[in-house]
Amino acid sequence: LCYSTPCLSAGADRVKAVLDEEIAACNTDAQIDLEVVETGCMGLCSRGPLLRIVQADGSEKIFENVTPESAPSILDACLSNTEPTKVAQLSPDLAFFTQQTRIALENNGWIDPEKIEHSLARGAYGALAQALHDMTPEEVCNEITRSGLRGRGGGGYPTGVKWELVRKAPGERKFVVANGDEGDPGAYMDRSLMESDPHRVLEGMAIAGYAVGAEQGYIYVRGEYPLVAARLAKAIKAAEKSGLLGSRVLDSGFNFRIDLRVGGGAFVCGEETALMTSIMGRRGQPVPRPPYPAQSGLWGCPTLINNVETFANIAPIVKNGAAWYAGFGTEKSKGTKVFALCGEVVNSGLIEVEMGISLRRIVFDIGGGLPDGGRFKAAQTGGPSGGCIPAEHLDTPVDYESLKDLGSMMGSGGLIVMNETSCMPDVAKFFMEFCMDESCGKCVPCRAGTVEMHRLLTRITDGSAVPEDLQTLEELCRLVQETSLCGLGMTAPNPVLNTLLYFRNEYLAHVDERN
Ligand code: SF4
Repeated sequence: LCYSTPCLSAGADRVKAVLDEEIAACNTDAQIDLEVVETGCMGLCSRGPLLRIVQADGSEKIFENVTPESAPSILDACLSNTEPTKVAQLSPDLAFFTQQTRIALENNGWIDPEKIEHSLARGAYGALAQALHDMTPEEVCNEITRSGLRGRGGGGYPTGVKWELVRKAPGERKFVVANGDEGDPGAYMDRSLMESDPHRVLEGMAIAGYAVGAEQGYIYVRGEYPLVAARLAKAIKAAEKSGLLGSRVLDSGFNFRIDLRVGGGAFVCGEETALMTSIMGRRGQPVPRPPYPAQSGLWGCPTLINNVETFANIAPIVKNGAAWYAGFGTEKSKGTKVFALCGEVVNSGLIEVEMGISLRRIVFDIGGGLPDGGRFKAAQTGGPSGGCIPAEHLDTPVDYESLKDLGSMMGSGGLIVMNETSCMPDVAKFFMEFCMDESCGKCVPCRAGTVEMHRLLTRITDGSAVPEDLQTLEELCRLVQETSLCGLGMTAPNPVLNTLLYFRNEYLAHVDERN
């Protein structure tokens, strides 16, 4: 039974209570061996609560929108080998499941994330043992470089190169940080990963610690993710108790401790320098770079910061080898990417796809197309730093370079599908409002610029703009891009510039309404 945030909010706990009662009654019969496993996210979040029944012979059935009322009939039918009536069943052959390539998410929905024995049974910490016993730190860094893995937080910086920089940086103390401060509207990939398979992320951090020479790691989670924080705290404790974290990890000479830090809800703390400031107990505000964290990060020491999804890819790379991982994806974008697919799409949820897959396949095959005969208008990627990809580019391969060429970006993985009723200046205004609210206020271009750009967008969308407002808006976008201190301000104009590029006629129509 999926016990992740979407399914819990749809009533998975009430379904569980009923199932437990029914099973307690069934188990009085010695012939029946039944157990409800509270798993992480199975992926099809919009159809939750999801219940997967796995029979002893390995066959499986997945039921959607399960309620406390329908749960007993599902159980009865499975026990009697019949089909339950009036309960929707998902075929495991659904394109949503079959057309994904799951590496980071391979354990999602199959284990109880609160039971370390479930993770160990799926091979957790095996790659860490392999790295500690069979590889030098340099060899680990080389393996990550050869795999072609790039930062999944949005920037796409080569992960192995970053690790090597920290490994070679002089310094007695070094740190590893996992950035789990996911805050883009529509994005919940990191939450799902940490909620569903916390040991995968912890193992990736520990391998990184060994590779770069750090004995201390921090995992930084936004305050709005209480279930993540609870599961991570439990996972860290269980790993320490099992000798997988802490002193003399796996009986080696390597010590690695991980501490959890919970943020206070500021979006800007996802920016790496603000995040480090927050970890050090100060107000989370960005500081200019250089120096980069690899040279001078936490308390002035070399610090490796990677996104949660990046760490989730490390153990499979060490276990299966760089060549295996590099076999997925495109020439410059290797491996897979996790997306939160949402908006106007039939199958809304969490997916992992091979880099280079077309947007069309994501939306129409995996996503099942648009509901109610809606017409595809655009897909928004990259959150408030990204842009909208219009229908004429549906066949574009989804990778770092192609999305950038289209004026959008991969970002951390939010993918919002829009139909023909979406007003694009309104979409740009929504993202600008988000940036305006989340601007930390440290530098003038972003603090004042987002307010002014939002004011102009409001005039455009409410029909009170004059033609010169469009020119002012564009000039302001360029100015804020070029002069802001951190990524939040530098990329805040992107949704405006991108929608002006593809949907300029909609802006002109709004302005013309008045004139
Ligand atoms: Fe703060 Fe915005 Fe300046 Fe970044 S760009 S430092 S968020 S005011």
